[in-house]
Amino acid sequence: MKTSHRVLAAAAIGLLFVSCQTAPYTGRKQFMLISAATEAQMGAQAYQEVKTKSTLVQSGPQYDQMIRVGKRIAAVADEPDFEWEFSLIKDDKTANAFCLPGGKIAVYTGILPITQSDEGLAVVLGHEIGHAVEHHGAERVTQQTGADLALGVADQFLTGGTSGTTHSLVMSALGAGAQFGVLLPFSRTQESEADHVGLILMTKAGYPPEEAAAFWKRMTAKAGAGAPPEFLSDHPSDEKRIAAIEGWIPEVKSQYSPIGTSRTDDPSLRRGKKSNGR
Ligand SMILES: [Zn+2]
Repeated sequence: MKTSHRVLAAAAIGLLFVSCQTAPYTGRKQFMLISAATEAQMGAQAYQEVKTKSTLVQSGPQYDQMIRVGKRIAAVADEPDFEWEFSLIKDDKTANAFCLPGGKIAVYTGILPITQSDEGLAVVLGHEIGHAVEHHGAERVTQQTGADLALGVADQFLTGGTSGTTHSLVMSALGAGAQFGVLLPFSRTQESEADHVGLILMTKAGYPPEEAAAFWKRMTAKAGAGAPPEFLSDHPSDEKRIAAIEGWIPEVKSQYSPIGTSRTDDPSLRRGKKSNGR
């Protein structure tokens, strides 16, 4: 091999070394050029934009529920560098939720009739936090802009230099949902990974993982009824998805149920609190 070739090969290997990572929990190999720190910065900036364009609910039972469930899952997510934030967006017509990189969560009031309970919301937040924990935002920005452009686009976005389609594309790639004009569903692999990690997180937080299958069945029924929730445009659901979730439940329960529970279905956890017997 010529020296110049050797240098090129070494450079290519070096690039692969910094850009190939292993997804937590699932061990999948990921290719992304954006660091976790840059990704989190992009998430924080995108979140700011979402918040300024939205009407936020800042008190009341729905807000309290989001904080209660969100903090419980965040507490077991094992992400010390995340700066968690939770926003409830007043929009009864939008059935959606997302978690941007770095732990920036938004829930639209329109999804609450489908989540129905703390346990149902835990399914959605577990799944969305799963996307953030697995760095799907950085991965998608890399995939969408192309490896040679990813860093430049990230930089441009952070300095406020993106506009139009590129801006919408980055917002969507980070996970801000279909509201930004570009419909960009997560890949099947990423969806399935977020389902799996979400199931683990909700279980670690003490919620019954069986609720995940029940939630996706309600979602699918809602889609069949004619007006598919926005959540489904980002998260296409079918029997295969539900079957995969049901398949993971026994192992997730035995491995991740909180210590001190029987590691079986403990009905007291369904209320989110242990009864003190009074
Ligand atoms: Zn998803």
